[in-house]
Amino acid sequence: MNDNPAFGAGLQPFMGIPSFMRLPASRELKNVDVVIMGVPFDSGTSYRTGTRFGPRKIREASLMIWGHNSTLNVAPLKKLNVVDYGDVSVIPTSIEHTMTAITNMASGIIEAGAKLITLGGDHSIALPLLRAHAKKYGPVSLVHLDAHIDTWESEFEAVPYSHGTPFRYALQEGLIRKGEYVQIGIRGPVSGENDYADAAALGARTITIHEVVQKGVDEILQEVHKRMKGPVYVTVDIDSADPAFAPGTGTPEVGGLTSYQLLQLVRGLHGLDLIGFDLVEVSPPFDHGEITSILAANIVFEYLSLLAIKDE
Ligand code: MN
Ligand code: MN
Repeated sequence: MNDNPAFGAGLQPFMGIPSFMRLPASRELKNVDVVIMGVPFDSGTSYRTGTRFGPRKIREASLMIWGHNSTLNVAPLKKLNVVDYGDVSVIPTSIEHTMTAITNMASGIIEAGAKLITLGGDHSIALPLLRAHAKKYGPVSLVHLDAHIDTWESEFEAVPYSHGTPFRYALQEGLIRKGEYVQIGIRGPVSGENDYADAAALGARTITIHEVVQKGVDEILQEVHKRMKGPVYVTVDIDSADPAFAPGTGTPEVGGLTSYQLLQLVRGLHGLDLIGFDLVEVSPPFDHGEITSILAANIVFEYLSLLAIKDE
């Protein structure tokens, strides 16, 4: 017998295989409440790559997270059966094949009854994830934290998909409930004066960083709670945070959310019918002192804590 555990809270943070929060690496879905899945893909990026290394670094950063959430007073891993499912088999040279692989793996997990938390990867992965969730739950309410609207049209006629287009297609494919799509933290130079109006015409409620600062996080959250009536999917682009807090990303935009505001925005989703989550655009080659992956891991932990509170 070996009483030396391979996984779990009994390990020191610097020991063992770096699964998310030292969770068991497993593809057994029986009695599993929550699955952590990685998508190491960055071929949807428009500028700097590197998010293919995101899942691995976020997992590594998560090793330091002790189990008890002191703000929410909950220990999610004691309440929920959570596994680290490993990564989707991506094909770096084919966004379309990768998207199919993402939808298939995500569907298998959520059809088995588990909630899915996905570590990206660039933001193009949100579309196949939304397809999988909408297949099970019907059209979802969407909370989207980002510097960018990501409802653009593709620059390339031959390939419609990139990390700048996922929500255009999600809206067009009817994956999102009407009037229940909020994007928060939006800012920065865009291609023209109509970009935000186009997002609104497609069905987004665009909340700029200016509006967040002017109104405060609480008032923004009140609007989110008022709007969201269906099952809520949450997608967090790490570049919603200011590059001072999250430099490790491909398309940084100055003047963003603080790490505390970002945590507040996720924490404030408590009470909504939370069905799925992704955290995208962490690009470790551009990170400094691992602060971006540490922030990312803690945002995932915050969301995981919300799922645990809900089950109480
Ligand atoms: Mn994005
Ligand atoms: Mn972005």
